[in-house]
Amino acid sequence: MKNLKIALHWQILLGMAAGVLFALLLSSFSWGADFIKDWIKPFGTIFINSLKLIAVPLILASLIKGISDLGDLSKLSKMGSRTIITFILTTFVAVSIGLLCVNVIKPGNAISEETRSNLLQSYSGEISSRVELAEEHRETGPLQALEDIVPSNVFFAASDNTKMLQVIFFAVFFGVSLILVPKDIAKPVGDFFAGFNDVILKMIDLIMMAAPYGVFALLAALVIESPSSNLFSALALYTITVLTGLLLMLGVYAGIVYFSTRKIPKIFFKAIAPAQLLAFSTSSSAATLPVTIECVENNLKVSREVASFVLPIGATINMDGTSLYQAVAAVFIAQAFGMDLNLEAQLMIILTATLASIGSAAVPGAGMVMLVIVLAQAGIPEAGLALIFAVDRPLDMCRTVINVSGDAAVSVMINKF
Ligand code: ASP
Repeated sequence: MKNLKIALHWQILLGMAAGVLFALLLSSFSWGADFIKDWIKPFGTIFINSLKLIAVPLILASLIKGISDLGDLSKLSKMGSRTIITFILTTFVAVSIGLLCVNVIKPGNAISEETRSNLLQSYSGEISSRVELAEEHRETGPLQALEDIVPSNVFFAASDNTKMLQVIFFAVFFGVSLILVPKDIAKPVGDFFAGFNDVILKMIDLIMMAAPYGVFALLAALVIESPSSNLFSALALYTITVLTGLLLMLGVYAGIVYFSTRKIPKIFFKAIAPAQLLAFSTSSSAATLPVTIECVENNLKVSREVASFVLPIGATINMDGTSLYQAVAAVFIAQAFGMDLNLEAQLMIILTATLASIGSAAVPGAGMVMLVIVLAQAGIPEAGLALIFAVDRPLDMCRTVINVSGDAAVSVMINKF
């Protein structure tokens, strides 16, 4: 069984490498890009869709089952409060690391006047749609975030992947009520969700058999659609800054896992490798969630109650990679525009990036939309998003790996304590 897991992990890596090579090879033919768009990319979309397809039923079944298994509400509130506090703390650490890196490396100072105006011109169109989306979040009252958690219709919530928090609310509410009804009524309902959960886990196994082919298609399409490489080199220092911060966060997780379980970090990273690779290929914590749950339960032996409680909530609100990236990006843009952010402004960025990452949906590109809010709060021009647009997708892939790893590390810790 163990060998099979390692094989899968390598198969996914191979699929990714083959996808990149295949796209590079075909891009030298005039028909190559169209061929990949028409005949390869759809398989990647089908693969992501099949993962998303099971995310909502999985959250429902596993949270309801997990909470009813806890059997008493004091356990639940203890675990709930510890989980939320740890998530906020790790996000806070992530933003601080991001600010430290960007203030030390100062990547924005390396952007020449010419590169800045070129980038601003090339991406002004793309930016306005993101600003509009962020506008919807911003034009709301102070309690809007709370209001948004309670759905008026659970089916409506379940039909929209950006409304996972509403599905979680329903599942927690249902699970708590299940604990409160008499045992003879609760038992068949609990048994139903336990069986339902097992079936979903089997579906994940089946989908994962297609993972190497799915990531092949996803990466091939990404390579074909990515912007030209000279933009990447202009933004190399910014990219290096974000990646340095993200790597440091992996070190933080290694520390969390070591101090809570005494397990060497290598075991942890090997156990969650399939989830990390999928996070990289899909750029979506929500799509990766089913696999994260499986890795954490099967490979790290975290109890089902903990995994099914901590991970769905983590996938939705704990985005350390996203918050770190938002802090770096905000200061980078300010540097590129020659703005000087004082300590007070940077402390505000810690607060807004923490909140903005909590509010980011677990889907590709969501972090950049919420970045608009961080920029506006700090008085940094929103047009500056154009400066980072060219490298946003590769960085989204990397920050999603960190988002998923952070959820897994916290679940290991909560499981221990
Ligand atoms: N793609 C990220 C995620 O799903 C969110 C973001 O930073 O855009 O975790």
